[in-house]
Amino acid sequence: MDNTAQSVWSNCLAFIKDNIQPQAYKTWFEPIDAVKLSGNALSIQVPSKFFYEWLEEHYVKILKVSLNKELGEDAKLVYVIRMENTYGNKQPFTEKIPSSNRSALKSQDVDVPFNNKSPELKNPFIIPGIRNVKIESQLNPSYSFENFLEGDSNRLARNAGIAVANKPGGTSFNPLLIFGGVGLGKTHLAHAIGVDIKDKYPEKTVLYISAEKFTQQYIDSVKKNNRNDFIHFYQIIDVLIIDDVQFLSGKTGTQDVFFHIFNHLHQNGKQVILTSDKAPVDMQDIEQRLLSRFKWGLSAELQTPDFETRVSILKNKLYRDGVEMPDDIIEYVAKHIKSNVRELEGAIISLIAQSSFNKKEITISLAKDIVEKFVKNTKREVSIDYIQKVVSDYFQMDVNTLQSKTRKRHIVQARQLAMFFAKKYTKASLASIGSQIGQRDHATVLHACKTVDNLSSTDKQFRKYVEDLSKKLAL
Ligand code: ADP
Ligand code: MG
Repeated sequence: MDNTAQSVWSNCLAFIKDNIQPQAYKTWFEPIDAVKLSGNALSIQVPSKFFYEWLEEHYVKILKVSLNKELGEDAKLVYVIRMENTYGNKQPFTEKIPSSNRSALKSQDVDVPFNNKSPELKNPFIIPGIRNVKIESQLNPSYSFENFLEGDSNRLARNAGIAVANKPGGTSFNPLLIFGGVGLGKTHLAHAIGVDIKDKYPEKTVLYISAEKFTQQYIDSVKKNNRNDFIHFYQIIDVLIIDDVQFLSGKTGTQDVFFHIFNHLHQNGKQVILTSDKAPVDMQDIEQRLLSRFKWGLSAELQTPDFETRVSILKNKLYRDGVEMPDDIIEYVAKHIKSNVRELEGAIISLIAQSSFNKKEITISLAKDIVEKFVKNTKREVSIDYIQKVVSDYFQMDVNTLQSKTRKRHIVQARQLAMFFAKKYTKASLASIGSQIGQRDHATVLHACKTVDNLSSTDKQFRKYVEDLSKKLAL
């Protein structure tokens, strides 16, 4: 404990308190602790990165004025972010803040280091003294198991992740494939596994990479004639995490090279973790031999969280951000935003922002406004392309087939359903729907809509199609 730091800070607080709204003071300043004073630099500890960004954005002036009063013109403020999860012995969370340099804290540099274009490294994959190579794992330490709340919707995946992290390569969950819809936590969980492994086994080489970036690297390596180095690079990794493998659909070259890397890693007891937006059985344009490898380990689904889990996710987030909010408001938000955790978080952040920025109290009616906006925005996102994709995925055909001229009954039905939903969920005219779904005219679309109406009242199987698809499309 440093008394001087605390007395300086309490003088600052007294000044700040006099100059801002009580609610804002309570939300943004009470949770702060003063931790250190060295020379004219005061370190304060804040609950999260979000909190820090918020202070920098809204209160940097008053902080500066108050600190100058206490410590003179050269006063400096240092933020320490209290993280639930620090790993290794790096301390990336302590940062001096020249307020011009806010990005300093956005700690994860996403560019893979061996991708760097430094002129002396002609071949980016060959690194001198390969045994001592240190590969940056590209993990985001703020994604941990601890802040990945458990519920029925994710219990299997989360616990399988923990098992893998305890014994990478040493469980039957190899590969571990995590699949589920957008915003349900696949990326979070994938990072959490990697972060935990790094924590427990600092000597292991862990690499997180998106399938998209992996593909890009592969294409570059072919262009630059160093495909073997690319393969070699991936073969020395102990824990390989590839996010969004559905991106490999149709990319046969990349699939091929991944197949070889996968086999090598697997044979050598290395751990592979994959995420995907669909289950292996529903993946299209992925080679059979690769799909069968995916099924060797465990496929665990992330489902949409139930109400209780949504409430705990929100409460945990608010707690970490040091924000208090009445239960009925949290419950209101959790009740109305159901299908996507990212949006759930987004809504709560904009609620905090709105109330703090416009100095409004957080009330149910403010929550209503914000939730409505979120729900509306998501509705607007449904495009005819998206509808065609969802419908063709559902019937396990590709969009070209859905649009083709064929008269095969199941394809015609899929096409008619796509037209029906395009009419229902978009503002597009019949003519424009027709032209986007396989160059048909408006009469065809009209006919499709009528057919779907008829069939769904007479044909039980068909009604199930309509219901399933409505669920998939109504976000
Ligand atoms: P995906 O990769 O499946 O699209 P993300 O991993 O990006 O989803 O998750 C979206 C957001 O939701 C992230 O901010 C993540 O931290 C949060 N999130 C998802 N599931 C949970 C959970 N069970 N507990 C806490 N936060 C979660
Ligand atoms: Mg993701």
